[in-house]
Parts: sequence; C-alpha cells; structure tokens
Amino acid sequence: MSSEVFLNNLSQVRARITRACDACSRATEEVALLPVTKTWPAEAARIAFAAGFSSVGENRVMEALEKMEEVTEEGNWELIGHLQSNKAKFIPNNFSRVQSVDSEKLLRRLDAVAANANCPLRVLLQVNAGKDPSKFGVLPEETDGFLEAALSCSNLKVEGFMTIAPFAPEDPSVARSCFESLRQLRDRMVGSFEVELPELSMGMSGDIEEAIRAGSTLVRVGSALFGDRIQRNPSI
Ligand SMILES: *Cc1c(COP(=O)(O)O)cnc(C)c1O
Repeated sequence: MSSEVFLNNLSQVRARITRACDACSRATEEVALLPVTKTWPAEAARIAFAAGFSSVGENRVMEALEKMEEVTEEGNWELIGHLQSNKAKFIPNNFSRVQSVDSEKLLRRLDAVAANANCPLRVLLQVNAGKDPSKFGVLPEETDGFLEAALSCSNLKVEGFMTIAPFAPEDPSVARSCFESLRQLRDRMVGSFEVELPELSMGMSGDIEEAIRAGSTLVRVGSALFGDRIQRNPSI
C-alpha cells in the first residue's frame, strides 16, 4: 500500500460519489467518506490520516487497538463490525463512534462503560434492513423497540442507523431496496420519536451509487481505496 495508489483510488471513489450525487441532485457535501482500513496494516490508516481524513473504520476491536499503537497521526477510529459485549470496555477513549450496535445487551454494556469513562459515546444502530441471515443487525420490525431502548441510555448519543446490504453484485436492486427501506424506516422513526437521526451509514465499494441514491450520508469504503482484500489474503 502506497500513498500514491491510495490517492489515485481516492480520486476515482470521489468521482463516483460526485457522479452519484449529481444523478440524484444531492450536494456532494451531504455524503461523507469513511476509509475502511480493516485487514490492512496500520500504514493504511496513517496514509488516510495524512491525506486529510479525520476518521477510519475498523471492524475488529483488537486489530484496531494494535494499529492505534502504531499510528501516531491524529485521527479517530470508528468501529463498524460486530462487537461482543465483553469487549465494550475497550471502546471509550479509543473509538470515536460505534456504528454496529446490534443488541440490547450491547446497548446496556456500552451505556455502562461510557458512564464509567464519564464520556458520552456516539453510536449508530445497525439494522439488518435486507433481512440477510448472514448479517448482524436488528430486524426492521424490531427497530422501534430497539431505538426506544437506545434513547433511554443516557450515556449514548444515537446519531442514526447503519446497514450492510446483502451481497448481490449481479442485482443492484437488492442493495437498492435494502437502503431505501432503511431510509424510510429512519424517516418514520424521526416522526414518531421526534428525535434527530441524521446519519445513514450505507454503501460500500460495490454499492456506493445505490446507497447515495437512497439517501446515504456516509459511505464506508475499503477495497475501492486500498485494494482487494481477497487477493491479498485468501483467508479473509
Ligand atoms: C469491510 C466493510 C466495509 C468496506 O467494504 P468494501 O467492500 O471493502 O468497501 C464497509 N462496512 C463494513 C461494516 C465492513 O465490514
């Protein structure tokens, strides 16, 4: 991984974001980009921070903590992967936000560790909007109750929702309907709970365009920026 390769990939990803925004008359500034450095060495995060990104995404707590040791550049780390409750204690002071809150048990643990650290924690609720059995996240029909529980946690700041579309590269309509259903769910929740839930973290390398069209405010991009994980390490 070199900075040059990253910057070249970045300009292509930015061009995709711009085109997708143009196509649905959204302002490019409405869609933030989170580089996902999981499976890549700490160098990837250093390159992203040096390029001006304020945050990177990681899906495993322990892997991220190791990289944080090596990275001296200022920057934030967001957790985007499933978190076991027994690892919640590592979140305060290390991660700026957890995007993958997917159970009431985890909510309660995160609320408790944030209280202990005396530091409110920013979270997104992960919804399995595509009802994919291989994905984490609460089901759409459970989201009302889950949001209610989350809003009752006084040390958590609920900023919105995150989803991962089912893997269906041949059929963009699968990702599209997943993203659209989460956007509609969010809009309905904002009305019924009278809260602001501005963040919709949707879209990865393969479905940036569908996500932006459906209203994504944050795309999480790994392989289109850093290269193909599968070729680099067949075990992942
Ligand atoms: C790996 C990962 C991404 C990035 O995936 P790419 O297809 O490499 O862009 C985004 N979100 C989550 C939750 C991930 O685990």
